[in-house]
Amino acid sequence: MTATERPAQRPAERVGHALHPQIDNDFLQLVSGNGVFVRDEQGREYLDAVAGIGVMSLGYGRDDLVQAAAVQARQIPFTHSMRFRNEPQERLAQELTAITPPGMDWAFFCSGGSEALDSVVKLVRHYWLARGEPGRWKVIGRRPSFHGNTLNALSVGYHAGRRAAFEPYLLDLPHLPAPWIYRCERHGMDGPWCDDCSGRALADVIERAGAETVAAFIAEPIVGAAAPGVTPPPGYYGTIREICDRYGILFIADEVITGLGRTGLDFGIQHWDVVPDAMMIAKGLSGGYTSLAAVVAHNRVMDVVRSGGRYEHNYTFAGNPIACAVGSAVLSAYQAEGIVEHVGEVEGVFFDGLNQLRRHPIVGDVRGKGLQAGVELVQPGGRDPFPLAAGASRRLDLAAKAIGLLVYPCAGIIEGKAGDSVMLLPPLTITVAEVGQLVDRLDAALAATTAELLA
Ligand code: PLP
Repeated sequence: MTATERPAQRPAERVGHALHPQIDNDFLQLVSGNGVFVRDEQGREYLDAVAGIGVMSLGYGRDDLVQAAAVQARQIPFTHSMRFRNEPQERLAQELTAITPPGMDWAFFCSGGSEALDSVVKLVRHYWLARGEPGRWKVIGRRPSFHGNTLNALSVGYHAGRRAAFEPYLLDLPHLPAPWIYRCERHGMDGPWCDDCSGRALADVIERAGAETVAAFIAEPIVGAAAPGVTPPPGYYGTIREICDRYGILFIADEVITGLGRTGLDFGIQHWDVVPDAMMIAKGLSGGYTSLAAVVAHNRVMDVVRSGGRYEHNYTFAGNPIACAVGSAVLSAYQAEGIVEHVGEVEGVFFDGLNQLRRHPIVGDVRGKGLQAGVELVQPGGRDPFPLAAGASRRLDLAAKAIGLLVYPCAGIIEGKAGDSVMLLPPLTITVAEVGQLVDRLDAALAATTAELLA
């Protein structure tokens, strides 16, 4: 066959393949969904306890969101935001910044969380250039953490498994140990907290990095895939904010998972009553009906950046009108349906149910807030993780699928070497009865997995 032959002329035996992270996978093919349920091509139904991956915040089968995309696609589907405005983008900027903490009035829209990470780092860089301090460039992240899969996001975050192959490309950036209370050797679950778990150690990390070289600190208010559900103690982000202010560095909250009601408040960081300098928002912003993410920046940052005159950054699909129209429809639905209040109402049932599952000897910890939870799996009788080869979270994932439940397995959460957890992020529209179904199915899956692992 020549290089210019058209697909229709290809020999029948030539087959194209979609490339997945697990190249030779036997993934389920999902074909439809309604509410919190999805179906595969065999017609089997699953309760999606992870909302795709935290994106399907309003559930499947939402005609209002489909309609918002269709109407905008008919009107004007694309504008190039380096050179033109579009109405959905301007409107969404107003609507989104109406719910972000006071003073956070500027929004840049892009297509996903990793793009948002790169975009916020560039914004921070412009801030320091405009202030005449070009030596400040380091962004301090936490270990573990996950801010995306672009090379810069892998450098800033610390997800050992996802960064390992790419080490030669990564920047040598400092990381503060995450406040993983369950695994901290220095205290029990109730404090008093060590310097890492209280956030005080950030000052040492800044000093060691050279304060005059540090541009910003970034954290997921509650950790996602790198250590599901790891939640800092009360006061943690107050301490972080105070240290950032003391050294004059910017504080970025990665609200890609925790934003827009996931934790029972509009934004996760609000549980600590702290206003960051910038936030990344993604997943739930589009409800999963298109690709959409945002960086929202505080006026105190933007006043400086504006004095520099330019934000040297864009993507072809930044501020896409279809995506922004969907985002706008999502925010309207949040308001009309009282989604954030609803999360507050079901949170108790959700965590009461999950905490009951501690009776399984392989459940070591249950943590999180709102409808964001991590269930950490351990060897019975202590905190020892299973070796990676035992495949504990993979087995739980398979056992859950077998009885109609989708969870998100995270293996190697301890430095990529051991440790298992499953992440739960159900659609925020989940009812109390459906929470009951979720917990019952997870209960059965844990029983099956325990039997397999301890056989
Ligand atoms: N930040 C957090 C907290 C995430 O959980 C993720 C993805 O899961 C990202 C950033 C990257 O987002 P994306 O996969 O849309 O690039």
